[in-house]
Amino acid sequence: MSRITLDHIRHAYGANPTSPKDYALREVNHEWTDGGAYALLGPSGCGKTTLLNIISGLLHPSHGRLLFDGRDVTDLSTQDRNIAQVFQFPVIYDTMTVYDNLAFPLRNRGVKEAEIDRRVRETLEMLDLSSWAKRKARGLTADQKQKISLGRGLVRNDVSAILFDEPLTVIDPHMKWVLRSQLKRLHQQFGFTMVYVTHDQTEALTFADKVVVMYEGQIVQIGTPDELFDRPSHTFVGYFIGSPGMNVLSADIDGSKARIGAEIIDIGFAPKVAPSAKTEIGIRPEFIRIGREGMPLQVAKVEDIGRRKIVRGQFSGKPITIVVPEDGDIPADARISFDPTGINLYADSWRVGREV
Ligand code: ATP
Repeated sequence: MSRITLDHIRHAYGANPTSPKDYALREVNHEWTDGGAYALLGPSGCGKTTLLNIISGLLHPSHGRLLFDGRDVTDLSTQDRNIAQVFQFPVIYDTMTVYDNLAFPLRNRGVKEAEIDRRVRETLEMLDLSSWAKRKARGLTADQKQKISLGRGLVRNDVSAILFDEPLTVIDPHMKWVLRSQLKRLHQQFGFTMVYVTHDQTEALTFADKVVVMYEGQIVQIGTPDELFDRPSHTFVGYFIGSPGMNVLSADIDGSKARIGAEIIDIGFAPKVAPSAKTEIGIRPEFIRIGREGMPLQVAKVEDIGRRKIVRGQFSGKPITIVVPEDGDIPADARISFDPTGINLYADSWRVGREV
């Protein structure tokens, strides 16, 4: 398995790109650890597949270099990069048995039969497929076929990385959960470098050690699920991760005070921001307390979703969402306060930390 270096990579599909908008991938400059499990997460069109295809070699970047373990592979074909890929729809041979489907990529590379047998059996075992070994793939369900596709990705232990492009889209919800947990376990056990594209945050957060959040052709944050939740680097991350997403309220900053409409809150430090910057306060619905003290709230709607209630209303003339526990009281004359540990400040959509 390999460390993957994305060295100032940019990509434009059209000829003669001039502005950042012309790039499907603006600038990606990161190093991904050997043996890491990374999920590329973001909305449709943000550049996930473009980045994955650059890593696999299906696409040559317009600028920049790709390195595996320090070796420049930018000009190498997919085959020469030695990676395994699992696509959205299963790629298997219907007329072959499950065993032969798994053996195929190894036979292709001239691996000895005894070694093939050992590796195929091990992979069948890992994926709980041993009892199907002799069955023809034809007639299996979409779930079962995708499991075989995963097996074909996992059977080679010499690959630099395994790339997954929305591999669970065709899988039913229960099986999705099972396969995801299985992949995570396999990763922990065998330490493959995995890159997994998805637009489903649950999938990304349960699968990956590091979630790579993409937005408009940029990586806006790479972090653990906790980091993305507690300290979103960009307002988009706050909005995209978490359900409901983070409240983003425009605010004027004066020293360590933020004025939101008629209300003033203490942000605990005096940030340095350019006077022309658009400043906003981000606070997750879970960090707002409702009670009889604090700033006035006009409650518009309360949604009971079982273990929690979602309160939607207006605060200082702006829409706001608050999460309260199932047994939380919502007084008629409700007031709110912000938990200081949950307050984030943004300037032109990027988080400004205390360290600045
Ligand atoms: P999705 O989740 O819908 O697959 P994505 O995040 O994978 O989206 P990409 O497929 O990488 O996004 O697309 C990024 C941008 O590049 C989009 O604006 C898309 O329209 C554009 N794009 C993708 N492929 C091509 C292509 N072959 N030619 C021209 N533009 C393309």
